[in-house]
Amino acid sequence: MTVDIVIKNGLTVLPSGITQSNIVIDKGKIIGIVKSNEPKADRVIDAAGKVVLPGMVDMHVHLRDPGFPERENFESGTRAAAAGGVTTVIDMPNTVPATVTLKAFNEKKSIVGKKSLVDFGFIGGAGEVPQKDIREVSEAGATAFKSFLIARFKELAASDYTLLKHMELLGELDKPLLVHAESGVLVDKFMEEAVAAGRTDPMAHCEFRPPICEIEATMRCVTLAAETDVHLHICHMTAAGAVDIVEWAQAMGQNVTGETSTNYLLFTQDTMKERGPYAKVDPPLRTKDDQLRLWEALNDGTIGVLASDHAPYTKEEKERGFDNIYDAPSGGVVIETTLPLMLDAVNNDKISLERLVEVFSTNPAQMNGLYPRKGDIMLGADADIVICDMDKAFHIKGENLQTIQKITPYEDMKGKGMPVMTLVRGEVIFEDGQVIGKPGYGSFQMPLE
Ligand SMILES: [Zn+2]
Repeated sequence: MTVDIVIKNGLTVLPSGITQSNIVIDKGKIIGIVKSNEPKADRVIDAAGKVVLPGMVDMHVHLRDPGFPERENFESGTRAAAAGGVTTVIDMPNTVPATVTLKAFNEKKSIVGKKSLVDFGFIGGAGEVPQKDIREVSEAGATAFKSFLIARFKELAASDYTLLKHMELLGELDKPLLVHAESGVLVDKFMEEAVAAGRTDPMAHCEFRPPICEIEATMRCVTLAAETDVHLHICHMTAAGAVDIVEWAQAMGQNVTGETSTNYLLFTQDTMKERGPYAKVDPPLRTKDDQLRLWEALNDGTIGVLASDHAPYTKEEKERGFDNIYDAPSGGVVIETTLPLMLDAVNNDKISLERLVEVFSTNPAQMNGLYPRKGDIMLGADADIVICDMDKAFHIKGENLQTIQKITPYEDMKGKGMPVMTLVRGEVIFEDGQVIGKPGYGSFQMPLE
């Protein structure tokens, strides 16, 4: 028999560990993992000297579609995903309209389905959304739900009462609740202090949005979640104190998971002095001690997910922050650089390749109901694969990125370790530095029951 593709001689990360193996792919699926005697194939990809990983599953992206075409769209965002070894994106609900009704969910699906180069899923909005809508959006295939505790996001911001009620509902529906854990009350009051002090410099964003905003919100969510069966997931964790709370809740047997991003793993608040509004994110960048705690937690399992939190804004929007940091929005272009930066971290012994695969592919796939279709190289799984060259140097330049924004918080950073080929369901969509996937190839991912 002749199969579609065999990937030969690569050092492959399997659930059982790293081995030299050949991966046999046919009709979009992995049908064999063999040491030798692989079948004939239409295409043989020689991965000698390279590592072969399952495609990354980025469970926290804002591709701005529909609603903000000047910032990003699903085609540009997933071109960037392809180049960054991300084979499945899970998009956040703060689009326009927000993903909070069955109608909005289905509209978004039909709009972005024509554009996506990689597979995609959606997170529904919880916030103050009526329970009837949450049930319908869940039924339609949302992989999880998101609530904010800060007022900026209108219907996505939850009062404590609704937070509790939605936790009960999501426990029943068996869908995780993802929380942006910052206290709206504390954030607003500290911001008033900053304004009263006449502070508009980049460091003010860190000084006047201290860790307690995040720690208090994390504790509150953990406390409420303990009354329910919900799987609580804390997004973009930054503060050592919040990690301590998640660790404690896990030790008490609670179903609580944590997530962080390269922003917090690689930058500290000192970065604000160098990079100003380009590095502005919420929660803000923290201290070296917080950063060390995040690495420790990512490695010991307390933090189980790495996600990019790709949240593009235009150059003009970001650069307003040079005059007054509070005029710049928080978030940046990061989906394409997350894997290279993490491969560099592997090269620098900050994390193992196996652990990187767990936190950036396996765990997010499991959490979002996509496992075992996604998230590991194994028999019967979708042939979503990224081949990486651990020795290939990179030098990040905004102008070279695939996304429509040519600005990045990581401008001029250098390192080693690059994805060189990306396959989604057996189709090569990125090769030799070129994105060759087609818009509309990506398919909507319904979570498994
Ligand atoms: Zn986000």
